Amino acid sequence: MDLATRLKEIKDALKAGLKHQGPWHDRLPEFSIVDRVEIKIVPRFKTSGLSGNEWRQNISVVGYFKGEVVFTERCGDMDYALASVYSFYKHTSIPKVVLQKEKECCDQPSCMNKATNRYLMKKVHSEGNHFEANAMKKSHGQGYYRQFCDIHAERGDACLNDTDSNYLPIEGGPGNSTNLDSSPSGGPIVMDL
Ligand SMILES: [Zn+2]
Repeated sequence: MDLATRLKEIKDALKAGLKHQGPWHDRLPEFSIVDRVEIKIVPRFKTSGLSGNEWRQNISVVGYFKGEVVFTERCGDMDYALASVYSFYKHTSIPKVVLQKEKECCDQPSCMNKATNRYLMKKVHSEGNHFEANAMKKSHGQGYYRQFCDIHAERGDACLNDTDSNYLPIEGGPGNSTNLDSSPSGGPIVMDL
């Protein structure tokens, strides 16, 4: 099935209120199971008739994904606290709460807004990270989609993968963008010698 036919099929299914029509949700290359980490020292005054009273502290670590807690740890020192974050990030399989939030939220990392724009992808990266010519072929005719809130609806034109020209709107589109935040690229540093 070609992309245009698949796009029409998905739009028709949405109009009819049908679910489970695909396509597959494709994560951005920058996807991470944690988008905010709080590490803080928590002091407590320990009292004991046997060993005496003293101030002690441990380290509280809390990791979040789109506002939901995905990771907590209590550590004896800062070395272990920092290592625990890295271990969670590198070795934990994707938590259920992350999968649930992904279904409804904008794909922009750390954005907690509901997704209101959905785009079918034209091309995707292959296993070797080369840019694939045909997303439909790789997905066996299902297609891949991404979704964004109105602030992040416009994706720009700087890369091949996550760019307006690589998307066909299923719902909404880059024209829905309400983004007011932009900053110029750093560019080369010019030194006056
Ligand atoms: Zn967003």
